[in-house]
This record gives sequence, structure tokens and C-alpha cells, in this order.
Amino acid sequence: MSDQPRQANEILLKGIPAAPGIAIGPSLIFHKTLPIVEERLLQPSEVEAELDRLRQAVARSKKELQKIFRFAEEKLGDEEGKIFEAQLLILEDSVLFDTIFLRIRTELRNAGYIVYDEIEKYHRLMASSRDEYTRERALDVEDLRNRILRNLQEEKLVSKLQTSAIVVSHVLAAADTLILSRNDILGYLTEVGGVTSHTALLARALKIPAVVGVRHVVSMVKEGTPVIIDGYGGNVIIHPSEETLRFYQEKKRKHKEFEDRLADLRDLPAETPDGRQIELVANVELVEELEFVHVQGADGIGLYRSETLLLGKEVFPTEDEQADHYALLADSMFPKMIVIRTFDIGGDKMMAHPVRESNPFLGWRGIRVMLDKTNVFMDQLRAILRASSRKNVKIMFPMVSNIKELREARRYLEEAKRDLVEANIPFDEKIKVGVMIEVPAAAVITEDLAKEVDFLSIGTNDLIQYLLAVDRSNDIVSSLYQEFHPAVVRFLRRIIERGKKEGVTVGMCGEMAGDPLATVLLLGLGLDEFSVVPMMLPEIKKIIRSTKYRDARRVAKHVLSLQTEDEVKSYLLAWMKKRFPDIPQGEGS
Ligand code: PEP
Ligand code: MG
Repeated sequence: MSDQPRQANEILLKGIPAAPGIAIGPSLIFHKTLPIVEERLLQPSEVEAELDRLRQAVARSKKELQKIFRFAEEKLGDEEGKIFEAQLLILEDSVLFDTIFLRIRTELRNAGYIVYDEIEKYHRLMASSRDEYTRERALDVEDLRNRILRNLQEEKLVSKLQTSAIVVSHVLAAADTLILSRNDILGYLTEVGGVTSHTALLARALKIPAVVGVRHVVSMVKEGTPVIIDGYGGNVIIHPSEETLRFYQEKKRKHKEFEDRLADLRDLPAETPDGRQIELVANVELVEELEFVHVQGADGIGLYRSETLLLGKEVFPTEDEQADHYALLADSMFPKMIVIRTFDIGGDKMMAHPVRESNPFLGWRGIRVMLDKTNVFMDQLRAILRASSRKNVKIMFPMVSNIKELREARRYLEEAKRDLVEANIPFDEKIKVGVMIEVPAAAVITEDLAKEVDFLSIGTNDLIQYLLAVDRSNDIVSSLYQEFHPAVVRFLRRIIERGKKEGVTVGMCGEMAGDPLATVLLLGLGLDEFSVVPMMLPEIKKIIRSTKYRDARRVAKHVLSLQTEDEVKSYLLAWMKKRFPDIPQGEGS
């Protein structure tokens, strides 16, 4: 947002980015009047008619939901349709309805009151859950309850809109989100809801931009107020100035242009023609990159270099500051996964208080620093855990050179988990833990490390410099820094094979993963995940989608038999030229 011009009369609000895209247009306030529930005593003679009224209301609700269910399946596929199937199942819950019918008979109270009271028990239980997902599902139960009550009162719900607009609402139930989408909806903006809310899930599936969790926004707009929502970063601008408007129109146009160009590829999986699925994810350093990561169609974030948070800082950010920051990242990518790497400081990376070392790359860096600065480490671990409650965060340790460091780091992670349990703060108790393979010693003990983690990520930037004894930032020896050195290739094969033998995912987040000349080789060596700079995503995807795994294996086998970097590069270049004349052929790196 730093590059966005602002004026005094516009209001800038921050919410949770729930569905990517930019929407510009007038607001339309969506109010759903809640059914009024009165308690009324019945005469015994009225009971049968009351039960009948309820049967009819349930039948009407069922019909409505079936219609919505079919519409959802048609428009969004089976998976999204399940949301409504769950509501239908509640309607068919005989235990619930037997209780409701029995209570009407024995308590002689009206159906509306008993329905409200009985379903409210479920609702309250779910709404007070510590788990965000269950809390979000409470909204569905509430919506179902209101649907039955509305049908008991024989009211109709208005869902036809006259104009194209950004729907602004306190809350939107799944059914409303879907039904409203039959109109020309530009975006959704709500006061409550998280990234796992059905508004968010459906908006993403419908490809309608959405920002949720913007407190008090309904009271800040009137019908027709001009609004901009930015579903990439969670920004909302009310009454935008001319300048802001132009800024976002331009941004929207650029995204559209990009999206059109990549449309063919963007939503397709990174899968070889013979069916090998690859995770193609992005390396990210700044939140400003997130929009681009979305536009480029990444499957998630394979490396978030958290140390960029320390840029220009004198002190380490607090646990709260970090938790907010990581949550923004996780929210923006949800339901895709993100890997947050703990601070990798030292070496060539900035530090709040640099120390003088004669060999910084062989010195106090990465996990070594964190295991000494345990307060900083614990703050970061708690902050990452706090952002993990939606279960789309993984954690990764850099610069591990022996198993003791990994075990110690995991011990601190367990301690951080205990702190959060004590403080009653939700997090993903089964958060996946990975380790970077970027020190040759770690590569040699891959199998041991793999037994104690969920995934490995090869950091070739460092691995190559340590393996070949060539400083990655020293120009004088840059020609010796060789990605395709046979030692590197054979080492990679060993890491990938040993890691996979232990049943963990093996990825790569070093620059080599984003070098098109290396793609076929890495594919053939069996790499499961490529984490690359966002810019390279489409190109790498194109190569993966056009290369049979079988052929890639042959390429890798041949490369493994070569003896010089020149031979490897010429062979790969020739192979690529033949198969991909369109892709600009560099010299590798
Ligand atoms: C690497 O070493 O390959 C890596 C991804 O880490 P960084 O470049 O941040 O050291
Ligand atoms: Mg590294």
C-alpha cells in the first residue's frame, strides 16, 4: 500500500483478504431481517395444526436448500456443493426433529419458539468453539434455523438486485453468497467472517473478489457509496479520491492483462503429461508480492524469508507484530499452504546488531543464532503458531547442520505450543515441520533428518557454495559457482532419493528450482516441489506440463553420467532447444 496515493476524505480500512481480485463500484447494503421469535402457549386442540405448519416449513426449507445445492454443484462442482449438503443433513436429522416435535406436544409451546430454542443449543456450542472452522460452521446452523423460522412465518427472501454492486453486509451466509451471485456482483465486503467462512470459500470459487472481517463497515457506507475492495491485500477504500480510483483502475487493468495472458496456464496443475503431480510454489520476501503470487497461479508459498521483517529495524518485532504479519500472509494464501522459515540471519543477511566475524558464512547464522537468542526464537515460534489456526502454515528451520540443532529447535517449538495452550490461543497442533538442506553435512545425514521432519527443502544457494567452497557473493570466483557441477547434480540425487525413501516430501527453494534449464533435470531426479520466484512460475509450469516424467528420468540418468559442468549444460541446452524453441534459452546460471 505504500505506493498508493491517498486523500483526507477517503476512508481506508483493513480487512482479511478472502478472495483475490479488485472490485470498484457502488455499495449495496444487504440486510437480512432476522425472523422475530415469540413464545406462545398453545391450546391442546391447536397442537396438530402447529405440527403440520412445522412439517410444511421444513419441507419448504428442504426444497429451497435442494435448489441451492443443485445450483452450487452446477456452478462450482461437487466439493463446494457439500456446504449445502451438510445443511440438508441437519434438516433430515431425526433425533433433532423428534425432540422438537415432542417438545411442542409436551410443552404446548409454538413451533417457532421450540425450533429456535433447540437449534440455538447447537449453534451456541459451535459458536463458542476455540476452533475457527467450527465457529464458521455455526453460521450455517444459524442460517438454517432462520430459514425454517422464515418459512414458518411464510416470508419470502429477496435476492434479486437491480444494479451491479459491491455487496456490503454484516455477515453473509453461504446460501446468500451463492444466491446473490446470480446478480452482477462485483465483490463482497463483510464485517464478520474469516478466510474459512463460506463467504470466503464461495467467493473464491465464484471468482468474485472479497474482503471480510472489516469491522463497522456497514455503518460507514450508504446505498451507492463508491467503494474499492482489494481482495489481494485486504484493503478497502470508501469514497476513493480521483487519484486512488485511477490507481486501482490501472492496477485492475494490469491484473486483467496478466491474467488473460496466463489464463490458459494459471489454473492448470503443474502435472506432467504422464501424470506426475508437482507442487509449484513461490518464494516470497515481501507481502507486496502476494498479489503477483496469486496472479501467477502459485500452489502456495514454499519459502517465506521471514528475516526480511527485520530490514531496517533496530530491534526484533514483537510476537504480536509478527503474528499479525504472518496471519496476513496465511490469510491471503488460504487455503493454499505457506512455509514460514524462521529468521535466517547472519552470513550476508541483515541483523539488528551485526557481529564481526572473519568468515560470516561459516559463522553465526540461521538456526545457530536462534538457538542462542532463545527469547527471539520463542517470540517467533509463538507468532508463527498463532497464524496457523487455519491449518495452512508450515514451519521450516534454516542452516541446520546436525540433528541436535533440529531436535533443540523442535523442543522450543513444543514449548511455544505449551505457552499457547496455557493462554488458550488456538493454533494448528499438528503443524508440519521441515528443515532446509543447505549445509553439506545435512545433505549427508538426509535420511536421519527426514525421519524427524515432515518435509525437506533444498537450499541450493547455500548448498552449492558450501559444497564447492565458492562464496556465493564473491565476484572473483563466480565462474566456479556452478549449479550444474556434476558434484551438485549427484548430491541432489542423493538427497532426493534418501528423503523420499523416508517418505517425506522433498522440495527445492534455492534459485536452481526457478532456472528453466534445470527443470527437466530436477523433475527427472524426482523432486516433489519447486519453490521459485513468482516471475518464473508460468515458465516452469509450462516445462513441467510438456515433459513426460519418463523422459525427464532419462535426461537425469544421462546427466548423472557426465563429468563436467559444460557437458551438462550443453546437453540440457540442446534438449531444451529441441523441445521448447519458444522459451528463451539462457546459459543457465
Ligand atoms: C538457499 O540457500 O538456497 C535458500 C533458499 O536460502 P537463502 O537464499 O535465503 O539463503
Ligand atoms: Mg540459505
